[in-house]
Amino acid sequence: MKIALLGATGSIGTQTLDVVRSTLLDTRVEVLTGFNNIPKLAALVNEFRPKIVCVPDCNAAKQLKSQITTLCEILTGESGLETAAAQSDADVVVNALVGRAGLKPTIAAINAGKHIALANKETLVTAGQLIMGLAREKGVRITPIDSEHSAIWQCLQGNNQKDIEKIILTASGGPFRTWKREEIATATAADALCHPNWNMGPKITVDSATLMNKGLELIEAMWLFDMPVENIEVLIHPQSIIHSMVQYKDGSIMAQMGLPDMRLPILYALSAPKRVKTTFPRLDFFTCGNLTFEAPDILRFPCLALAAEAAKIGGTLPAVMNTVNEWAVGQFLQGKLEFYHIPQLIAQAFGAYTVKPLNSIADVTAAEGWASEYINAFA
Ligand code: NAD
Ligand code: MG
Repeated sequence: MKIALLGATGSIGTQTLDVVRSTLLDTRVEVLTGFNNIPKLAALVNEFRPKIVCVPDCNAAKQLKSQITTLCEILTGESGLETAAAQSDADVVVNALVGRAGLKPTIAAINAGKHIALANKETLVTAGQLIMGLAREKGVRITPIDSEHSAIWQCLQGNNQKDIEKIILTASGGPFRTWKREEIATATAADALCHPNWNMGPKITVDSATLMNKGLELIEAMWLFDMPVENIEVLIHPQSIIHSMVQYKDGSIMAQMGLPDMRLPILYALSAPKRVKTTFPRLDFFTCGNLTFEAPDILRFPCLALAAEAAKIGGTLPAVMNTVNEWAVGQFLQGKLEFYHIPQLIAQAFGAYTVKPLNSIADVTAAEGWASEYINAFA
């Protein structure tokens, strides 16, 4: 299999390359892209020798050129990323980009008939109905890398969509699960970056602390599995052993379990329906301790309720939410906003925005443009 890896230097990108290195799959890397860690990207280019590489701008391209020992085409910027996603010999594009940047390359790749292994949940949050429709039209597969969605997908196999009663989306609860609201109010970026179970990029780690990550995943699940938001339930499960569940109309519940290790969903997104033999550490029920469950608390974690509201209202509202959230998380990471300013800004934006129907990518771009202008007043 030939893959194009967008966001190669990040957490998912790095673990995707671990899977490639493990030779569990016969994989050749045709494309690698990076953004701010050019030395790391250069080392990967020297190791995997892709034909196409993409970096943010000319300076980064110069820096990269001086550090690589192999010939490749170097593209730049957003348009370069779309070209890299669409115009290579790859059969599968692994989208490990973070945030809004993930949408347009996904569209370019689908239009070029490439299958998508999708980590970038923001793509489905902002434009789920358009992306799923386009994928159907072009006959390409979108396989989830997000561990919960991989779990749901696995629990669905061999069953009929019409027999599903509900999806149970599990969440670790993040680092502030047991903190009081007043303690969370003064949490710093360093506090938020200490995730109990997963080692991920900074944006998704903060999203996990606010529970916006679960809200984004709610919308992601709606589109991936064609499920109304009312039939998706969020359940806090602090051990992150059950990665999600599907309950059927006869009352039977299927769960997918395993140690928290993103290499598993990455591998399955590339190999399914084939199961590949691995030597990854196994879950041992005799030593893993109790599995516990709690209801989510939307008073301490209002982002989850805001995302559920955006999911219900739909149209361009999730795109507005996603843009405001991404900006606010960036500001929080720099110590410029407090933790609860993130949901406050999103709620204020909801109040100020008139939701439009989502008929085209131009509608997404317009909504993101509105949100960017709205945020500028606070910047
Ligand atoms: P990360 O920050 O570690 O990596 C992001 C990658 O995208 C990097 O290669 C970075 O250079 C690149 N990038 C960042 N901004 C860019 C831009 N504007 N243009 C082009 N490239 C850009 O993020 P991550 O944790 O690997 O997450 C990637 C995606 O996967 C996110 O959507 C996240 O929600 C999702 N995800 C991650 C995990 C995880 O365990 N890390 C689990 C499930 C889902
Ligand atoms: Mg997840």
